[in-house]
Amino acid sequence: MANLKYFFPDSQDFVDPSFDFLTETRNEHRVRQRDDHYPHEIFEKPYDGILVSKAIVDGLRGSAGKYTQAQRRRFYRQQVRTFFRLPDHYQSMGDCGAFTYADMYMPPYSVDDVVDFYEKSGFDFGISLDHIVFAFETPKSKVHGEELEECVRRQNLTLEYAEIFLVKSKDKHYIPMGVAHGWNPESYRDAVEKLISMGYEYITLGGMVPLKTNQILAVLEAASEARKPNTKFHLLGISRLDNVEAFEKYGVASIDSTTPLRQAFKDDKKNFHRGGTEYFTALRIPQLDGNLTMSRKIKSGEVDQDEARRLEQGALKAVRAYAERKVGLESALNALMDYKKLYAGNEKYIGEYRRTLEARPWESCNCEICRKIGVEVILFRGSERNKRRGFHNINALYHRLHNAVQ
Ligand SMILES: [Zn+2]
Repeated sequence: MANLKYFFPDSQDFVDPSFDFLTETRNEHRVRQRDDHYPHEIFEKPYDGILVSKAIVDGLRGSAGKYTQAQRRRFYRQQVRTFFRLPDHYQSMGDCGAFTYADMYMPPYSVDDVVDFYEKSGFDFGISLDHIVFAFETPKSKVHGEELEECVRRQNLTLEYAEIFLVKSKDKHYIPMGVAHGWNPESYRDAVEKLISMGYEYITLGGMVPLKTNQILAVLEAASEARKPNTKFHLLGISRLDNVEAFEKYGVASIDSTTPLRQAFKDDKKNFHRGGTEYFTALRIPQLDGNLTMSRKIKSGEVDQDEARRLEQGALKAVRAYAERKVGLESALNALMDYKKLYAGNEKYIGEYRRTLEARPWESCNCEICRKIGVEVILFRGSERNKRRGFHNINALYHRLHNAVQ
C-alpha cells in the first residue's frame, strides 16, 4: 500500500490565511484565490496531484461556475501549474467534468475542445471526452429495453471519442487517458478491452460515484481480467473509501475523491477523520449572523436576539475553555446543547458530541492545521473552519494511502 496515488479534484476550495478565529475577521485587502491557500500550500504533501475539470473552469450553460471571468483568464494565461502555485513534485490531470452535463443528450464539447483545453493548460494527463452511463444493474434489477439502449449509446460514444482523442493527442504534451463506462462488470471489461486495443495504457473507470464498495470491487475484478502488464487504472470520483486498500491488487494506480473534504461539512456525523478510518462528529455552533432561519425567528419575535447571542457566545467560550482544560466536559456539552435547543429545537447528536469532546481528536493530530488552530478545527461553523477540517481529512487520507504515520 504505497503506490496508490491520490488526485484532489479542484472546485476552488481554499482558505484565507488572514482569517482570525477569535474575532472572525479577515484582512480586508485579501484577494480571493490569489492570497488564499490550497491544501498543498498548507501541508507538506496532502495529495499526489490535482484534477481540474473543463466544466468547472469554463462554467456550463451560461452559469459562471466556480471561476470568475478574471480567474478563468488567468488560468489560461498562466497554465495549471502556475495558477495553482503547484510545485514540481505534484502532477496535474484534466478531465471534462462529465457529471455536470450528464443529463444532456450529447456532451457540450468536441474532442478538439478537450484536446485544446489540456494542451493550452499544460496538464500532465488528459482524460478523454466521455458521457456518463447512469444505470448499474444488480442481480435483482437487470438493465433492459430503452435504458439498456441508452447505456450502450453512451458507452459507444465514449469509445468513439477515445479513439479520436488518442490520435489527436499524439503530438501533445500530456499523456492521454481513456475512459471506460459500463452498466455491469462485464460491460466495463468490454470497454477496457477496446481501450487497450486502441493503445491506451492508463484507463479511467468512470461513473463510480453512486456505486457501493462491493460493486466497485466487482467492476475492478472484471476490468482487471482484460488488463495487460502495462495497464493502469484510475478510479474517477469515488465516494466510498472504506475498502480503498483492496484496489491496488486490481491494477488501480490512482484515485480521485472529494469525499474527505465534503464529509467535513456535508456528512451528518463523519466530519473529522482520524487515520482515515475513524470518524468524529464536529461540534455545531452555527453563526447567528447570516443564519436565515435564525434571523426569521428573531424577526418574528419567536427568539430573543440577545438571548441567542448569549447562548452562541457561551457555546464558543465553553468549548474553548474545555480545550484548555479550564472547564469539564459536562459544562461544555451543556453549553453546546443550550444553543442547539435554541437553533435546532433538539438535542440530537448529544452522544456524538460527548464522544468528540472525550476523545479530543484535534489534540492527537499533528497536522499543520490542527497544530495551528486547535479546537477551532472541530467546530462546524463557517467555511474557514469547515474547509480547514476538510483539508485535514484530505491530508489524513493521503497518509492512509501511503501508509505513513502522522
Ligand atoms: Zn489535523
